Amino acid sequence: MTTARPTPRLPLRPELAGETPYGAPQLDVPVLLNVNENPYAPPAAVVAEIADAVTRAAHGLNRYPDRDFRELRGGLAAYLTRESGVPGLDADHLWAANGSNEVMLHLLQAFAGPGRTAVSFAPTYSMYPEYARDTFTGWIEGRRRDDFTLDVDHVLATIAEVRPAVVLLASPNNPTGTALALAEVERVLAATSASGPDGASTVVVVDEAYAEFRRPATPSALELLADHPYLAVTRTMSKAFALAGARVGYLAAAPALVDALRVVRLPYHLSAVTQAVALAALRHTDTLLGQVAVLREERDSLVTWLRGKGLDAADSDANFVLFGTFEDRERVWQSLLDAGVLIRVVGPPGWLRVSVGTPQENAAFRAALEEVLEP
Ligand code: PMP
Repeated sequence: MTTARPTPRLPLRPELAGETPYGAPQLDVPVLLNVNENPYAPPAAVVAEIADAVTRAAHGLNRYPDRDFRELRGGLAAYLTRESGVPGLDADHLWAANGSNEVMLHLLQAFAGPGRTAVSFAPTYSMYPEYARDTFTGWIEGRRRDDFTLDVDHVLATIAEVRPAVVLLASPNNPTGTALALAEVERVLAATSASGPDGASTVVVVDEAYAEFRRPATPSALELLADHPYLAVTRTMSKAFALAGARVGYLAAAPALVDALRVVRLPYHLSAVTQAVALAALRHTDTLLGQVAVLREERDSLVTWLRGKGLDAADSDANFVLFGTFEDRERVWQSLLDAGVLIRVVGPPGWLRVSVGTPQENAAFRAALEEVLEP
């Protein structure tokens, strides 16, 4: 006689039941304006130098890479100094990982975790709650104002109530494009020196993934680093540097904060190939960032055009524009897709987000949208 064996069941964490992997559809259409990539591929000369650097790294691939990637951290510090004009940054202030997503995961691994809480203010980047979930951190989401600006009084009240270990503030914010004024970040920092667990400070993360696209009047939170040892400013090479495929994100913070991240990273998390690619790209910063000015101009004229069509378009300091509102945004999204233009359904009900592409791609987007608005 055979006894019926129970069907094996994976011991999935209950909070993961029914969860789907994060990510926008990856579709093969002519105009990709859905994940805020830089539409300009690296020019041939830079590709050749990157390939050369990878070849050199390949000769040593039997060895583990430099675990502390000092050269890359120094290169990123020099870049930030140049880009922001903030003095005093060196390798000890820098950290990097496979995308700024992983950098922020490291932040929560080091400073949040079970029994602690992270907070942010929606609508904002939808990966933040996933970092919390994946690090067993409690998650509280406050709100932005209707115009997507940050209500600092509400932020301070939330912090006082929740006593979070980490506050995540995106500037420019995704999906709205809204940048924070330095004074707003300063007010948050002034309230967080002892607002965290057990009277420790709250770590304030300003996620500047799109910083290079900001308008001239918008300074970087890097300016506040020297006086705030619990501030972390994250950046990425995925957007302005046109290097999303390389997966390189980084942050600047006080050396003691960076040292805590060294404890939680996996050994050799940045491969020798990644380090070589990032260093080669940094040697060609001017070329790779060369299209940022064009993208900024295209963004501004897209906002003007959308408003001219009677639509709402949020002010943007990033390389995308949130616009709307539509009674049936899924239908608008599908019509654009049918015309070969992929954008993103994201943000509050009724809104859509379009990344800024090349002038030709933006023209294709405008033509396709016009068809929807005035068929
Ligand atoms: N922060 C924000 C606000 C983003 O929009 C993104 C990417 N969409 C990231 C961080 C992560 O980018 P990456 O991991 O490529 O650096």
